[in-house]
Amino acid sequence: MARLILVGPPGSGKGTQAEKICQASSIAHISTGNMLREEIASKSELGKKVESVLASGKLVSDEIVIELIQERVKKPDCKNGFLLDGFPRTETQADALDALLSKSGIPITHVIELQVDEEDLVQRLLNRAKIEGRADDTEEVIRKRLEVFHAQTKPVIDHYRKLSGVFHSIDGAGSVDEVFKKIEEKLR
Ligand code: AMP
Repeated sequence: MARLILVGPPGSGKGTQAEKICQASSIAHISTGNMLREEIASKSELGKKVESVLASGKLVSDEIVIELIQERVKKPDCKNGFLLDGFPRTETQADALDALLSKSGIPITHVIELQVDEEDLVQRLLNRAKIEGRADDTEEVIRKRLEVFHAQTKPVIDHYRKLSGVFHSIDGAGSVDEVFKKIEEKLR
């Protein structure tokens, strides 16, 4: 049973690859970004609380996303495995995930890092803005999200990097299918 964490900066293709991986291996796709956007779209209390945070490119509080994850991994579609996309993003979230998984006796099987050159990331995100029209895909907010990534999420990835046999770094520069093929090789 695969339990994956997909890590990488904003614009590295995590969401796209996550969908392909989950479809191919019938595991649940858990994206905290998608969950938060759904809360905003449905105008829930939580959605109202986090809307301006997403629009600014900053991170929602650890407490909120940890609770979302704790509830989400209990759902029946996670029994077959799951892929975390966009979580954990801080050391506190990584610690909470460790505690949650060790309590349930279900360790992470793969951490996959997508590596993409910084200027390519900005271009990719600006292109995505034209297609998807996400509120946080303006150049100013993109730069903020990259800054947040370096300050808060990079140390988490470097922590996972030490897990030999579990951590795999992949060049995310190619086409969607090329990158997916490289990921599949690691999952085999
Ligand atoms: P994403 O779609 O993963 O790029 O996430 C979009 C936005 O949602 C981020 O810029 C944050 O504001 C928020 N977000 C998503 N996941 C997390 C997380 N694990 N911790 C804190 N904020 C998050």
